[in-house]
Amino acid sequence: MRIIESVTEMQQQAEAWRREGKRIALVPTMGYLHEGHLALMREARNHGDEIVVSIFVNPTQFGPGEDFERYPRDMERDVLLAGEVGVTAAFSPPVKEMYPERYQTFVEVMEVTRPLCGRSRPVHFRGVTTVVTKLFNVVKPHAAVFGEKDFQQLTVIRRMVRDLNMDVRIIGHPIVRESDGLAMSSRNVYLTPTQREAALNLSRALAEAEQLANGGERRGPIILGKVKERIDSNGELRIDYAELCNPETLEDVIELRGPTLLALAAFVGSTRLIDNRVLKVPAE
Ligand code: AMP
Repeated sequence: MRIIESVTEMQQQAEAWRREGKRIALVPTMGYLHEGHLALMREARNHGDEIVVSIFVNPTQFGPGEDFERYPRDMERDVLLAGEVGVTAAFSPPVKEMYPERYQTFVEVMEVTRPLCGRSRPVHFRGVTTVVTKLFNVVKPHAAVFGEKDFQQLTVIRRMVRDLNMDVRIIGHPIVRESDGLAMSSRNVYLTPTQREAALNLSRALAEAEQLANGGERRGPIILGKVKERIDSNGELRIDYAELCNPETLEDVIELRGPTLLALAAFVGSTRLIDNRVLKVPAE
């Protein structure tokens, strides 16, 4: 597997592949790879001949006081893991390569970035859409794979690609979980054993909400009440948000009348975790 750190070199490689008629599939990541990332890479093999994983902890998507500096990194291990699942190249530019001096251009998606994570992380999605646009211009993929773990991010990217006529097919991949239900995340490494145990309440709350919806409960506030009760049941978790929304527009849902996204974010200590599930309510 090739490791490419330079934008120009990546662009030249992408052009060469395209001239040979190869299809390129990209999996953007911030590294510290886990099974969730690897599942995206395996999925990418169905959409491209050459698979590129980008490994870049993107400073513009972190707010002040967030964990940019301490975000876990292990390039050597990442390269080994990505190589094992058939990735052709890892694009891992230094920050200065992506944001040289006097950098001043950003891509901003409006409405769908406002609720949920947008509320507590106001600059986050602007950073995400900017870096993903840059990655598309550098890696020139035909397709890109994103995880539903970051459901709002996937919605935002789909919106951006449509609105800006980007010629990239966006593929979503279901959340990959640990055997006990915890959604895999590079940030799980921050958790102490007690915090990790407490964090299980997120996936439990989602499962309980699904049971309620399957049992016919259609009142959003009742479902959210139970979800919050479960998350609060152990003093370790502090809810950032627990919301029901339309999976396409991300608008609030009060009464469930079709598939509804239940999205959660909570702090355990200083670690912020997210999780979600689409409640399969038949459309009325
Ligand atoms: P990250 O490195 O956390 O920025 O994630 C890179 C990509 O992997 C994003 O598209 C995430 O949604 C996806 N991802 C992260 N964790 C998971 C997971 N547990 N299951 C599925 N996709 C994931």
